Amino acid sequence: MAKGQRFTAGRKSLQRGALHAIAARSPVPGRVYLVGAGPGSVDLLTLRAAALIGRADVLVHDRLVGDDVLALAPASAERVYVGKARGRHTLPQPEINALLVRYALAGRDVVRLKGGDPFVFGRGGEEIEALRAHAIAFEVVPGVTAACGMAAYAGIPLTHRDHAHAVTFVAGHLKDGTMDLDWPALARPGQTIVVYMGLAGLPVLVRELVAHGLPGVTPAAVVQQACSPQQRVVAGTLQELPCLARGARIEPPALVVVGDVVALRASFAWFAPEVHATGGHAAAAGGG
Ligand code: SAH
Repeated sequence: MAKGQRFTAGRKSLQRGALHAIAARSPVPGRVYLVGAGPGSVDLLTLRAAALIGRADVLVHDRLVGDDVLALAPASAERVYVGKARGRHTLPQPEINALLVRYALAGRDVVRLKGGDPFVFGRGGEEIEALRAHAIAFEVVPGVTAACGMAAYAGIPLTHRDHAHAVTFVAGHLKDGTMDLDWPALARPGQTIVVYMGLAGLPVLVRELVAHGLPGVTPAAVVQQACSPQQRVVAGTLQELPCLARGARIEPPALVVVGDVVALRASFAWFAPEVHATGGHAAAAGGG
């Protein structure tokens, strides 16, 4: 196959990486490590993740992996970015799968770094299916998923014996102007809901939850860039949250969290960059 023939992403770093990967097929395939990089801060990596990154041959990473995490890799490591570039879309998942397969078949060990945990809205399962189809060995390293990082750093326990006996993580991206979620189940009291990728659809989320019976006065928050020095939090009631988030110009990556536990942050928040914003009067503060 001609060098670079099948790599059409047009991204320099990717093309460079691809050229190396298209070396002749190695008799001994490499191994792929699907590694959770946690929610942003290098301190929140697992020891296993840090060790694997520290001796990485090839690093394939997306946009949620911070520079301080990437800096742990040896200078000799080949870095391949497959996330969103300005004005461009993420590399399609099948192309990422093919890239991992190609490197491994060329005999390279690959650290596939993903924000948070690889198995929580991380499409780790799809990558494993591709690896298995080519009999490529793999290992999965868990990471602190954004919801757990956010809970700790925003002072919002996800469960609490007096307030929430269950927690549900949902993906909140919009499809045809709505979200494909089980609204009656989500609107039940006594639980916490954490919405990933839910910022753009926040008004829809609030409208549906309230329409299905969750009181508009339920405590709720949006947390941007949780666990980083840029963390920002807006908290108030469910019904006022879209307005608060818009007013504070909250941007992705952000999580929405809904439930009585959010009220606890008024006394549980400990992380310095944030300034409390409760009751709908104050806006978010701190950082960009
Ligand atoms: N596998 C990742 C989730 C990837 S989906 C994990 O386990 O955390 C991407 C979404 O995760 C973002 O749109 C955002 O909703 C959320 N997210 C990831 N990192 C975040 C952070 N540091 N702060 C707030 N939300 C974050």
